[in-house]
Amino acid sequence: MDDFIKMKGSGNITFDADMAAVNKIYQDLEGKQAIFIKETGIHCPAGCGDCCTRFEPDILPVEAEFLAMQMLQKEGVDPAAEIVRMENLSEQFSQGVCPMQQYNVALSVTTERAAIAPAIAGACTVYSGRPLVCRIFGFASYADKTGNPVYVPCKLMTQTEESLQGTSKILAPIATAYGTRMESLRPQDAVQRLFLRKALVRAFQKIGMMFSFKES
Ligand code: SF4
Repeated sequence: MDDFIKMKGSGNITFDADMAAVNKIYQDLEGKQAIFIKETGIHCPAGCGDCCTRFEPDILPVEAEFLAMQMLQKEGVDPAAEIVRMENLSEQFSQGVCPMQQYNVALSVTTERAAIAPAIAGACTVYSGRPLVCRIFGFASYADKTGNPVYVPCKLMTQTEESLQGTSKILAPIATAYGTRMESLRPQDAVQRLFLRKALVRAFQKIGMMFSFKES
């Protein structure tokens, strides 16, 4: 199971309710995936992380804020420093390379995250706060041309004929259902998706402001 960090409240009732709702979506998804994995035996190759290597998620503000809160509370990052770091990623981190993958962190000329997360290729440094798309990949069903849900594995996954047959009995969670739930938390933000690094900057700006109001 995931290692969700129990968040302390920010003091902003609406914001805290949103964070609890995101947590609930992730926990519901994880619960369904745990059943799917148990019944089918399908899993990722050990230490893989290939799906993160050439990919940067584009995420909703509410997902970015959840991730930022996890980083604040798990790692104690400083919002202002994290904004500077995200805005000054080296060219190796051109868009399309997730700056949160351990291998990418190890390449980074900025060392804060490397110090937090020593280099182990193929792992996420923000696992407990990672966005929805990262949780869904390889463990979700999508509608086919006729609208019927079909399980879509990652090509690198370990699977057998028997395990794939199991997917006809136990359906992997339907990806769009969780995407819709996430969007419905703040319908006005549905068109505000940004690549992770930019979404995180905005999230830390918002949270930094919220905390400074709280302290003043
Ligand atoms: S946030 Fe984590 S899981 Fe998602 S792409 Fe980046 S490194 Fe991979």
